[in-house]
Parts: sequence; C-alpha cells; structure tokens
Amino acid sequence: MDVIRTVPELAARVAAWREDGERIGLVPTMGGLHGGHTRLIRAAKERDEKVVLTLFVNPTQFGPDEDLAGYPRSEAEDLELARIEFVDLAFVPEAAEMYPPGFSTRVQVDYDEDVLCAADRPGHFDGVAQAVTKLLNLSRADSAYFGEKDWQQLQIVRKLVRDLNIATRIVGVPTVREGDGLAMSTRNRTLGAEHRAIAPRLFAEITRAASRIAQGEPTELACVEAAENLIIAGFSDVEYLECRDAERLRIAPSPGHGARVFAAARLGGARLIDNVPVPDLLAR
Ligand code: AMP
Repeated sequence: MDVIRTVPELAARVAAWREDGERIGLVPTMGGLHGGHTRLIRAAKERDEKVVLTLFVNPTQFGPDEDLAGYPRSEAEDLELARIEFVDLAFVPEAAEMYPPGFSTRVQVDYDEDVLCAADRPGHFDGVAQAVTKLLNLSRADSAYFGEKDWQQLQIVRKLVRDLNIATRIVGVPTVREGDGLAMSTRNRTLGAEHRAIAPRLFAEITRAASRIAQGEPTELACVEAAENLIIAGFSDVEYLECRDAERLRIAPSPGHGARVFAAARLGGARLIDNVPVPDLLAR
C-alpha cells in the first residue's frame, strides 16, 4: 500500500490507473479507524479494483467551539489496519495541501439547512461538501462509500453529486455496531468507562421509539419520552430526537414507508449521533 501526502502524487497514481481501465473506489475518513470504516473498505474492495482510503481531519467542517484539536488521531494504527484490509493507496494530506494559501472557493449546501445536525453545527455540511468535492475530483473515483450512521451526510453527498454533475456513484453502507448496540465511532474513544456504559442507551431509546411509532403511537410522544429517558440515563443534553422521512428529512408526523428516527445527544464531552429505520409493522 502506498501512502501519499500530496495532490500531484495522487493525481499521477490515479491517472495511471484510469489509463489501465481500473475501477477506483474512494473511502473518505477522518482516521481513527474502527469496524465501521473497515466495512466501507470491504464494500469498496468488493466492487472496485483499486481502493483509495483518505485520512483527513477536515478543519473546515469543525465549528470554532468544536473538538478539532482534540479529535482522536491514530495515523500509524490506521495505516496498519488499511494494509491488513488491502487498501491500495492511502491519501493522508495536511490541511495546507488541501487548502493552500489563496484557496478561496466554498461549496454551500442549502439543502435541509436547518434540520438535524445542520441546525446544531452551522457550516458543518458546507465544510463536508467542500472536502468531499475535492476528494471526488482528486480521486476520479467510480464509486465512493459513506456510512448510514451519518445519514444526513449521506443524503447531502448524494445531492451534491447530482447537483454538481459529479460522475461518482455514491454507495451507502449500513451502520456497524458494538455488541451492545452502540454505533461504532471514533468519538467513542473519548468516553470514560462510566459514560461508555451509558452510551448504548442512545441506540436502545431510538430503537424503542421507532418500534412504538411503527405500532401507531404518536410520533412526538415516542420521541419526547425517548429523549427524557436519555437525560435520566445520564446524557447531559439531547440536541434532537426526531422522526423524519429518510430522503428529504422532513418531519414525519405519521410515518409511512422509509421514515427513520434520528438523534444527537451529548454524553460527557462527546457528541454522539445515531439513526434507525421505523420498521414497516403497520404495512404488514
Ligand atoms: P468519519 O471518519 O467519522 O468521518 O467517518 C468516515 C466514514 O465512515 C463516513 O462515511 C461515516 O459515515 C462512516 N462511518 C463512521 N462510523 C460508521 C459506522 N459505525 N458504521 C458504518 N459507517 C460508519
């Protein structure tokens, strides 16, 4: 596996592959790799001949009060894991390689700008869209792989490639969980033992809310009670816990097929997010 840190080196490698007719898969990450990332890499290996993994903690998607400096970094371990997973090329740029002096172009996402994470993290998805646009262009990937754990991000990236006519196919990959249900996340590393024990309640509560909604209980009641239970369990804040339709992310008061329950909640210093589908019980 080659580890490449500059844009010209990446461009040269990708150009050679394309000349040889190789299909390229891109797996963008911020490093701190775990089983969720591994699932993305394996999905890419199944479909594509060459897999490019990117490790880049993108500063433009962090707000001024967010954890950019404290975001867990583990490059040596990440590269080792990537080798074990037969990644072909790891692209590990510094921020100045991606945004050199004089960089002045923004990608602005107006789509669902005031819902879910967009409401709590202003500018976050603009930063994601900016980095993803660059990585898609640089890698010239046929397919790019994103996790359903970050469902809103996945929808925004799908919209981005449609709106900007980027030819890459966007592939969504199901959420990988720990044995107790907690969605794998780099930020889980920042949880102390006491908070780690409480963290699976997030998945448990949204799953229960989803099942109550499927059985016909009022959506808002199910969501409010789930949020209250999280606070009782020890979460310090629930930023949102809502049922929305899966694609447009509009509030779903009486959810039909494809609704999901989404939540973001704070536990200790960590902000955890998760989402699950509302099962189709009523339709059966
Ligand atoms: P991150 O490094 O957290 O920015 O995540 C990089 C990619 O991995 C994103 O597409 C995430 O949605 C995806 N991802 C993160 N956690 C998981 C998980 N538990 N299961 C599946 N995909 C995940």
